[in-house]
Amino acid sequence: MWNAVAKNLIRTKVHQDYSHTLLLVQKGRSIFTKPPSSRNCWQHTAGAVQPFNMSTSIQKVEALDVNNFVRIHWEDGSKSLYPAVWLRDNCQCPDCFLRSAKARKLLLEDLDVNIGVKEVTLTDRQKVYITWPDKHTSEFEAEWLKKRCFSEQARAEMQEELFLPECKYWGSDLQLPNMSFEEVLQSDESACKWLSTLKKVGIVLLTGAATRQGELVKLGKRIGFLRLTFYGPTWQVEDKMDANNVAYTSGKLSFHTDYPVLQHPPGIQFLHCIKQAATGGESEVVDGFHVSNKLKEQNPQAFQILSSTLVDFTDVGIDYCDFAMQSKQRIIDVDYRGQVVRINYNNATRDTIFDISAEKVQPFYAALKEFVDLLNSPEHKFTYKMKPGQ
Ligand SMILES: [Zn+2]
Repeated sequence: MWNAVAKNLIRTKVHQDYSHTLLLVQKGRSIFTKPPSSRNCWQHTAGAVQPFNMSTSIQKVEALDVNNFVRIHWEDGSKSLYPAVWLRDNCQCPDCFLRSAKARKLLLEDLDVNIGVKEVTLTDRQKVYITWPDKHTSEFEAEWLKKRCFSEQARAEMQEELFLPECKYWGSDLQLPNMSFEEVLQSDESACKWLSTLKKVGIVLLTGAATRQGELVKLGKRIGFLRLTFYGPTWQVEDKMDANNVAYTSGKLSFHTDYPVLQHPPGIQFLHCIKQAATGGESEVVDGFHVSNKLKEQNPQAFQILSSTLVDFTDVGIDYCDFAMQSKQRIIDVDYRGQVVRINYNNATRDTIFDISAEKVQPFYAALKEFVDLLNSPEHKFTYKMKPGQ
């Protein structure tokens, strides 16, 4: 997991000037190395879990005529099945795969989806050679194959490494993760920890930034780039005359997510406290996933309404550019398993136009009110006051 975060979120995001000053990672080598013995192996059949390492060896390989499968017998006694069409599709030869882009060249138009192998052989217990009916040949490394084993366990482990699905839900008892801003900028290990914590908890407090504008840009460049919106590359939240956003007033803001009006709302938002108000100025945060699950327990019907009704959002104004935005979002977004994956809610930009039938309107309001009451309940919300430089 550590390796995956390091590779995918840090090493690949080094460009231009920052590559010299901030990240000292040699090309082709991750600095986050883990002893091979601590990595998981990909087992197909039951058997003792053995360390996955470079010497993953194959005992025997065979083509099964039935349904066009190739079966690999590993030295540890486990077996893996690979469909012939998948092997042909993923041929790693220069005609089929562009190594410099790590991308498939083979066109689906040219793939025979009913293909079977003509011949399969094994070399040094490390390489599988396949000859196809049209004489094309493919070569696969044992380690590459093992990582892509189709067993349920192997797939689950690979998905975990790729997507870091672990979540930590929290309420008013949140132990706000706290890290040094400078350390995140200077140390790859700290940057990796920051990102993986952010993925898991959803919020991290960084301390010790300078109390001037520009610090957020540094943080964004550390891992990639900031996304431009119609409020410009960054913006100042302060009390403004004729405010074009309710955030630019001294009034209380209720719980919201930013930009539900965008087709792709932001994933992560950075806030930097440059100057704190003498009175007030507290920040309140709440774990929307945790509260959604509470709503589901307390009132499944309300959860069903909020996770299925498309709500219209609108935002029109002038800022970095003129904008007139319109979107439809579910307030609680769930994935194919019914797991909550995103909250889209900003009461200020919820449109007066509401594209549902009249009799569904009041039940929607009742459901939303119940959700908002849960968000505001003292056991769920966490309150703190940012200090300058945080
Ligand atoms: Zn090929």
